[in-house]
Amino acid sequence: LVSRKTRKEDTVILLPGDVVVGGNASLMVAGPCSIESEKQTRAVAAALQKAGVRVMRGGAFKPRTSPYDFQGLGMDGLRILREAADEYGLLTISEIVDPAHIEPSLDYVDIIQIGARNMQNFELLKAAGEVNKPVLLKRGLAATMEEFLHAAEYIMSRGNTQVMLIERGIRTYEKWTRNTLDISAVPILKQESHLPVLVDVTHSTGRKDILIPCAKAALAAGADGIMVEVHPDPATALSDAAQQLNIDEFNTFFDEVKASGLYR
Ligand code: PEP
Ligand code: MN
Repeated sequence: LVSRKTRKEDTVILLPGDVVVGGNASLMVAGPCSIESEKQTRAVAAALQKAGVRVMRGGAFKPRTSPYDFQGLGMDGLRILREAADEYGLLTISEIVDPAHIEPSLDYVDIIQIGARNMQNFELLKAAGEVNKPVLLKRGLAATMEEFLHAAEYIMSRGNTQVMLIERGIRTYEKWTRNTLDISAVPILKQESHLPVLVDVTHSTGRKDILIPCAKAALAAGADGIMVEVHPDPATALSDAAQQLNIDEFNTFFDEVKASGLYR
């Protein structure tokens, strides 16, 4: 079902408020790594609205490496995200990690995110396949193209055809970036599949100083959208403090990406 062989035309996903993913429009998804408070979330939402961004991300269920690190606000976080997004006319995307949370999340998220660590959580993929809500599937930390596409197939085979893929970097020996951004994944996925393809420049690189060229490269390679993390005060962030842009940095980033002519 994910294959270009079964469907020649690009899948275009229609979100509320006439926001489209795929086709001829680029999508910017921005927001904090984690939803931390109402104040923090509203500050980002206000800035995104001002910048013309339509979709806000923010994690409520955080898959952290250490059990002692901030785990997210859970359902409260989803509620805070929804309220701030509604106030500023934005759509929401947030990661769901438990199949049992898929149904309860439907009132709060416009897009369900499945994280890299759960790309092969098959029960979660099946649960996401059974609802009528777009799903953003992240590439696993060490997933091959075949594994990635099969994971998307799990969702689609349960009936949910609104699937978007996102490259977020893979593990390699290189240490100067957090992960290795696999730009070649973009044209390969666009060729092999009709689904929209995005690139998460934040988690792939983990470096604020190279986000602009990496976002341009992603769009030049055919990506339908970009994901980037934004926090009002990154130094105090409860997760991914080193890699989140502050609001001024985000505005510069988005302006430069638009000025490249690659963002449609
Ligand atoms: C995220 O986007 O919040 C996240 C945890 O990313 P990933 O699953 O790609 O590590
Ligand atoms: Mn993060």
